[in-house]
Amino acid sequence: MTSSFVATIGLEIHVQLDTQTKMFCRCRRTVDAPPNSHVCPVCLGMPGGLPVVNQGAVAMGVQLAEALSCTIHRQSVFARKNYFYPDLPKGYQITQHEAPLATDGVLADPETGEVVRVSRVHLEEDAGKSIHPQSGEHSLVDFNRCGAPLAEIVTEPEFHSPGAAVAWLKELWTLVDFLGICRGSMADGVFRCDANVSMAKVGCGELGVRTELKNMNSFQAILSALEFEIDRQTEVLRTGGRVLLETRLWDEGTGQTLVMRGKEEARDYRYFDEPDLPVLILEPMWLQRVVESTRETPGEVRRAFAHRFGLTREDVGRFTTSRKWADYAFEALERAQDIPAVCNWLNRDVANAIHQSGGDPSALSVAPDDISKLANLVESGTLSLPMARNVFRTMWSRVLPLAQCLEDAGHQESDESTLRTVVGELIDEFPDEARRYVAGKESLLRWFVGQAMRRTQGRGNPQIISQLFEKLLNRKEHP
Ligand SMILES: [Zn+2]
Repeated sequence: MTSSFVATIGLEIHVQLDTQTKMFCRCRRTVDAPPNSHVCPVCLGMPGGLPVVNQGAVAMGVQLAEALSCTIHRQSVFARKNYFYPDLPKGYQITQHEAPLATDGVLADPETGEVVRVSRVHLEEDAGKSIHPQSGEHSLVDFNRCGAPLAEIVTEPEFHSPGAAVAWLKELWTLVDFLGICRGSMADGVFRCDANVSMAKVGCGELGVRTELKNMNSFQAILSALEFEIDRQTEVLRTGGRVLLETRLWDEGTGQTLVMRGKEEARDYRYFDEPDLPVLILEPMWLQRVVESTRETPGEVRRAFAHRFGLTREDVGRFTTSRKWADYAFEALERAQDIPAVCNWLNRDVANAIHQSGGDPSALSVAPDDISKLANLVESGTLSLPMARNVFRTMWSRVLPLAQCLEDAGHQESDESTLRTVVGELIDEFPDEARRYVAGKESLLRWFVGQAMRRTQGRGNPQIISQLFEKLLNRKEHP
């Protein structure tokens, strides 16, 4: 019986910081350069190479810790974590162990408001990347990633469902994106998450034996891996077995977690203070400057959207999925005369165009300013909505400025005698609707205008059409 066990989940997240250079050397940090093109004696672990801490990476770590409301420690210590792996040429990783950069933070799930505690944020370097070609005859190693700066965030084991863990993780991704300290996604490997999961009898007051899950490359993979592992452990316990302390790999192909190795304890790594680096001391003035320059968090931006524009919770959620999109939407709304109209533009035409052009709002050739201008032109009756949407499509697909597109589309039909003919025809064709309008069903006016817009292929001036209908229909009343 699944219901007699409760799951407890903790997360460990590695965020590759968006610096120009690596954590301890001057090699450029890169995600797509040819293999082994950005390496030096320091990041390759050559004898005599000496590490120097990247100040920019420390600043980003501080801003992350600040945004997570952590206690930031004026002094922290780098340590050697010793292990052998082919993608780790030094034979150890420089990380922070007993004295991390920051501790005791929190981050709330934006939907449920539930707060999860962050036990620590520390700085470390990334390992290289092993590549195993399909042929299976040999393996390759790319050291470009060796020494890239990472911030590791460790949560308390406080999640009790895979859904809650993944929702919180998405909020953390949104946070590092808004802070501008990590560029990319789980698919690019710059935002990675391992999870610890254990099962215990309801009400027993203790945590069960945990397993650590690795190799999940998407939010969906984390959700599936946690669900699988909870079912697996429950089955082991239900049949009287014991869960073993081990590291398990998520296998996307079979949808299972498989044993990778017994879980290491801290003592297995023979940690000791890094002798080549001094204690990291944050100078108060520098620290204050860095903390003050921390960008707005998603929570702050959401509140700004709600207060400034009075948006619904749904719209706020839609506009704050990434920093670039939030910036775009905010700028468009700032100049809006009609907020709901601009919201419609953003949710419909703009979101669609961004989706079709690869998901990056900053790559969109239509400026946010132009969206509010288009909405305002429709609002004032200068442009019909179908024409405005055509103008938008032309601006986007042909990368043309608004003025030129308006000029090209400029043959809006405002000639009264031409429009009067269309309006007259429609009144003749729909005598029932005309009678009902005259009898008081005013909403039919909009229906008539819609018919006229269709008949003029969206080119008719909706304001003039509306006035003509009113004039001609009311005249019908008093022939
Ligand atoms: Zn290097």
